[in-house]
Amino acid sequence: MKRIHDIYRPMEERKGDWNEVERPLTDDELKEQTSRCMNCGQPFCHAFGCPLGNLVPDQNRAVAQGDWKRAYALLSANSDFPEFTSRICPALCEASCVHGLDEEAVMVRQSEKRIIETAFANGWVVPRPPEKENGRSVAVIGAGPAGLSAAVTLRRRGFAVTVYERRKNIGGLLRYGIPCFKLDKALIERRRKILEAEGVKFVTDCEVGKDVSAEWLARENDALVVAIGTPAARDLRIPGRELKGVHLALELLEGQNRFLTGEIPEAPISAKGKKVLVIGGGDTGSDCVGTSIRQGAKSVAQIEIMPKPPDERDASTPWPLWPYMLRTSSSHKEGCVRRWNLNSLRFIGRDAVPPASACVSGVEVETVEWEFSPEGRPMKFKSVPNTKEIIEADLVFLAMGFTGVPAENPIVSQLKLGQTTRTALVADPGRNIFCVGDCASGASLVVRALASGKSLQM
Ligand SMILES: Cc1cc2nc3c(=O)[nH]c(=O)nc-3n(C[C@H](O)[C@H](O)[C@H](O)COP(=O)(O)OP(=O)(O)OC[C@H]3O[C@@H](n4cnc5c(N)ncnc54)[C@H](O)[C@@H]3O)c2cc1C
Repeated sequence: MKRIHDIYRPMEERKGDWNEVERPLTDDELKEQTSRCMNCGQPFCHAFGCPLGNLVPDQNRAVAQGDWKRAYALLSANSDFPEFTSRICPALCEASCVHGLDEEAVMVRQSEKRIIETAFANGWVVPRPPEKENGRSVAVIGAGPAGLSAAVTLRRRGFAVTVYERRKNIGGLLRYGIPCFKLDKALIERRRKILEAEGVKFVTDCEVGKDVSAEWLARENDALVVAIGTPAARDLRIPGRELKGVHLALELLEGQNRFLTGEIPEAPISAKGKKVLVIGGGDTGSDCVGTSIRQGAKSVAQIEIMPKPPDERDASTPWPLWPYMLRTSSSHKEGCVRRWNLNSLRFIGRDAVPPASACVSGVEVETVEWEFSPEGRPMKFKSVPNTKEIIEADLVFLAMGFTGVPAENPIVSQLKLGQTTRTALVADPGRNIFCVGDCASGASLVVRALASGKSLQM
């Protein structure tokens, strides 16, 4: 019995809509897949891979036996938002599955999706308010996964919890970054109702530091949890950056998500009929690829300065570590040219009068060559002479990661918070100020943000 690779809806069907790209696995497929689990004496998936410590082998056995109620009880013991992680987690658990040593890992993420959806369908997911109030209050700044996880954890311990969110809706990057074709936003509303029934209060459209001071929140509450993510995207300040049509990735992704959920009447950026170039080879770039394709782009290319990763797990990341290797997303498969070892030198504009309204028409790039560390990791690059070329583009999306929390953020000054050299926020438990999620760790993953919120001790 092999791992199933055909997990997506048919290509032409999914490219034509914004619904989730994955198809549901059948009962027989799930039974077969969970039966592949070896119930290892030392389950690395649970103890090493999953930041939440999900009880993967026990869940697998329950699913294989068709005992969905037990499977849900096991999953919900450690995971408060499995409907999110079971859709968008890269599944660190699967990378550390012992089966991965000799063949392919057990499929965990898909079985968790079925467990939580079965639980919702059967009415097993009910609010779990605290048995007793503890008389203390907490303000959480930011309603992304880290803030939501902190909120549910503290509420269940009896704290009065209020979450302040600057956006119209909760969810953070789950709602405004990750595309609808990976995560249906109705799932966030479904969970919000449960959190509210447990007693979590949300104050949306409220930017802490501006509409209300962080220092006041700290004074008025027994504790403050800062969960503001890493709002600053890495820009590419090369000549021509001011040209029309050069955007940060989130301008595209956020605009499309807000449009699809009815927040705004029209997507602010459309790739329809355009040649799109995505600079940055990671997941955010891949989300730009899938979004551009669904908007009707003429062509989509994605370039990366780093070398092409190996097709298989690289020796520098032996099992059970998260493997350094090439990843091909559903969006890549939908029609995208991918290239590596390309450094971007300048954006080129189309002549226009007045010049301020010039639009981008391409990017000049140059091939680079990498020097590798003894372990085989790319360290330093140099340009390869005579390799300059122009890649045509009417729209360019910059998807090059996030730089952390800017020191000018008013929350930093109002709370007098320390920052690491990489601008992550440093908690001050002595003053009952805690920092969780990406703002404390640097840009990472939803599952790590959830684990960070859940691990709060106060
Ligand atoms: C395009 C994209 C795709 C991604 N895809 C995946 C994926 O597939 N899988 C995965 O695991 N991870 C993915 N990630 C990473 C993941 O989304 C983040 O690691 C995760 O959302 C971090 O959670 P967080 O709660 O720390 O921050 P965020 O999700 O950024 O939430 C922070 C919240 O704080 C709010 N906030 C900020 N400042 C204030 C203020 N002053 N007052 C009030 N509210 C404030 C923000 O509006 C936001 O709602 C992706 C990231 C991006 C950008």
